[in-house]
Amino acid sequence: MDNKQIARVFEDVSRLLEVRQDSPFKIRAYHTAARAIGTHAEELRDIVARGGDPREIPGIGDAIASKVLELLSSGKLQYLDELRGSMPAGVLELMEVPGIGPRTARRLAGELGIASVEDLEAALRSGAVSHLSGIGEKKARTLLREIETHRRRDTRIPIGAALPVVERILARLQTVPGVAQVSAAGSVRRFVEMVGDVDLLAVSESPADATRQFVQLEMVDRVLAHGPTRVSIVTDDGLQVDLRIVEPDSYGSALQYFTGSEDHNVALREHALSSGLSVSEYGITVAESGEIERFDSEEALYRRLGLQFIPPELRENQGEIQLAARDALPRLVTASDLRGDLHVHSNWSDGVASIEELAAAAVRRNYEYIAITDHSWGLGVAHGLDARRIREQGEVIRRVNEVIDGCTVLHGVEVNIKSDGSLDLPPEVLADLDLVVAAVHSALGQDRERMTSRIVRALENPYVHVLAHPTGRLLSERAPCDVDMGKVFEAAARTGTLLELNAMPDRLDLSAAHVRAVHGQDVLLSIGTDTHCVRDLQYLGVYGIGIARRGWCEPQHIANTMSLVDLRACLKHRCQV
Ligand SMILES: [Zn+2]
Ligand SMILES: [Zn+2]
Repeated sequence: MDNKQIARVFEDVSRLLEVRQDSPFKIRAYHTAARAIGTHAEELRDIVARGGDPREIPGIGDAIASKVLELLSSGKLQYLDELRGSMPAGVLELMEVPGIGPRTARRLAGELGIASVEDLEAALRSGAVSHLSGIGEKKARTLLREIETHRRRDTRIPIGAALPVVERILARLQTVPGVAQVSAAGSVRRFVEMVGDVDLLAVSESPADATRQFVQLEMVDRVLAHGPTRVSIVTDDGLQVDLRIVEPDSYGSALQYFTGSEDHNVALREHALSSGLSVSEYGITVAESGEIERFDSEEALYRRLGLQFIPPELRENQGEIQLAARDALPRLVTASDLRGDLHVHSNWSDGVASIEELAAAAVRRNYEYIAITDHSWGLGVAHGLDARRIREQGEVIRRVNEVIDGCTVLHGVEVNIKSDGSLDLPPEVLADLDLVVAAVHSALGQDRERMTSRIVRALENPYVHVLAHPTGRLLSERAPCDVDMGKVFEAAARTGTLLELNAMPDRLDLSAAHVRAVHGQDVLLSIGTDTHCVRDLQYLGVYGIGIARRGWCEPQHIANTMSLVDLRACLKHRCQV
């Protein structure tokens, strides 16, 4: 079980205790533990595997620690089963609908036998609920609306949750005999931050074999539809995946069509019509002759329309078709343009890898540099560094640099921006470091005016090089801070401070929309993974690059495409675009 699943179990326990009107302290304890586990960087199973204790995570006491061990060893929690057993079925599911608290859920499930959101919806529509339970017509209407929103939100998941599933499926399909080409299409291919259903496309000589193999994948929870060339399944983590098998000679057209977006495709069809061509998922029909032309690649299709190839990340009808017609699309940054990672935690703070291990991994990745940016001391939970430990760490980094080849470890820090915008390390300590990354980690709920002036003050600090995860959002669980990003961009441009594109999949902060908004503003970006273990380093070329491309970034927009010499010069004088 991973931390997210464990957190989910404790959240369920907390809610069931609430239904049972148990002690508020107990309810809160499980809720707090769930939040702490769900957001903790190191997997509990890794903590236990290295001989650690679940109580290392603040908010976990003895009782919950032993339940964590039970979950890790058996995958189950007897306590949760008992709680469930003592209550009518469906209570937990009903409480997922906003507006249904523990009391209403208990009454609906217990007295009316409503065991699912679908049951509830049917009962609300038929009027049965208002008749039986005293839920009035107005409340019933509100609940129906909430159910709608709930369903829509439920079907969108972060790209970081979808992509690994997609990659597993694609890798598997590639091994099926007769399958020639496979690709993701739709919002995943366009690298949309929150994706709905996943669309996959393949070419196969024997479609029946391919679809049969697909429905037999281990991760398939249920099959929604199974036709000769099209299958829809739901994976065990609730993701709907549609696979289409197409003919080789129409693969380009189908891939273009199913990648979308809708808006891009509408604009593309209009562009084609002006030259008497009509575009469909099968090919291009020439209006005059009625002849159908087929395309085995997207490149050929766009070329036929007089356009440069448009990268999927740009296909939103935001000017890309007009630019492609003039051969003027941006030269989007690629993973191979990046020369290093500028946000990495070691085991000196809350990371798990040693500086030596991270340096070795950077060498393996052919990085020219890697910046170790551990937390400063003010962040209590993260074993942050004070001035003395930063000096000691500098010694270690110096020794590592003496022995590694081809890569330089930069000595940085992720310093906390206190609630008034000051930093929790003094200037003389910051002045000695190669890279100072500043970030907000506390008082996230400040009002817009205070948060904005707090961040602007940090940007004006002459020792700060980078503002990390500028909005503080966590994709599926925390909204961005209330901050005036226009003022942040303006201050970053004025002071030559870099803004980070944090590539951690649950952050993606700045967002692609912010990244794109930055281009006109003389602001340079830095991509950092916020790595907490060696495995996280891979996010640089996946999510960092994905969001940068979706934000229309060219290499010169990003500081870590620079050589070490240029980067050092840029950091020294603060970066002016
Ligand atoms: Zn941070
Ligand atoms: Zn960090």
